[in-house]
Amino acid sequence: MVRASVDLDRRTLVRALVFHGPWRIAVEDRPDPVPGPGEVLLRVVSTGICGSDIHGFTGENGRRFPGQVMGHETVGRVVATGPEVTGLEPGTLATVHPVLACGSCDACQAGLDYRCPRRRIIGVDPALSSAFAELMAVPAANVVELPETMPAEHGALIEPLAVGHHAAARGGCGPTDRVLVVGGGPIGQACALAARRQGAERVVVSEPHAGRRALLADIGVPSVDPNDDGFTDVVAEVLGGAPTLALDAVGSSSSLRSALSVCAPGERVVLVGMHEPKVSISAYAVSIEERTLTGSYCYTKQDFLDTAAWVATAPPELARLIEDRVSLARAPEAFAALARGENPASKVLVFPGDS
Ligand SMILES: [Zn+2]
Ligand SMILES: [Zn+2]
Repeated sequence: MVRASVDLDRRTLVRALVFHGPWRIAVEDRPDPVPGPGEVLLRVVSTGICGSDIHGFTGENGRRFPGQVMGHETVGRVVATGPEVTGLEPGTLATVHPVLACGSCDACQAGLDYRCPRRRIIGVDPALSSAFAELMAVPAANVVELPETMPAEHGALIEPLAVGHHAAARGGCGPTDRVLVVGGGPIGQACALAARRQGAERVVVSEPHAGRRALLADIGVPSVDPNDDGFTDVVAEVLGGAPTLALDAVGSSSSLRSALSVCAPGERVVLVGMHEPKVSISAYAVSIEERTLTGSYCYTKQDFLDTAAWVATAPPELARLIEDRVSLARAPEAFAALARGENPASKVLVFPGDS
């Protein structure tokens, strides 16, 4: 019903970034997404390029498929709503919780929809309208309204920041903790900011790249180069003791070994990074020294809503997290530069409405 007036003044094709196989991605016209019952049509303001998108682009993770449009870290404005949707005015700023779950299994009933065996994720599932496009149609239940008092583009940071929020929560982060985050990329930054929000005042990030350490300094988070002599002692010095919680935002054998060896015996390590599908660690660092190793993946809907509520308060440090902005036309070269390691930017946002 709402559609009729919209169709008259809008073209029937939209520009989207289409993945065609390893290292091949192009801007193409795709059919205009139509909001079905319970869905909302959003005009995308900006979408972040995630590390998982880059690994999909290079073919490394096998979780992206030729012909699909990626993009799950996004913010947009409501254009129209499909049947059965009320209360979302055109123009409303909103982000999208990208996890679509069945709502009825044990995991969903427990509020752990990201563990739903039937979950589908926007930007990962090729059948779902996704965010590297001018327009996307998404379930209204996944749309989270944002206020005009925050910078609109910061809405694209909510998804990666929620990953850090969940990881810190999985580690039981609290005010008495001394927290080491291993890796200062977007997820490491999210972990450090989340640990602070969860009450930890003593947080340090281990990061070898000088540009990323400069970013961390700008957002008020101390960092240490893991290649420095006496790394373990330096971390303990900065934190006032050995870490009681380590969040591994890299996920390689060396990062996890580092997290386990620097963290105090009996304490907790959370594995959230996914750099390598298999890791090799010291079994005794877990058994004899009784460290707890906890996995962390994605976020609950509540983690996402809590993170959106925080971003809605326009924390000033978030502006520093965005290091590059590109149009859809420039997105293919941005993907290639990030994959080749030539773009030092931590987070790159794509603006599909820009030419
Ligand atoms: Zn992501
Ligand atoms: Zn379910």
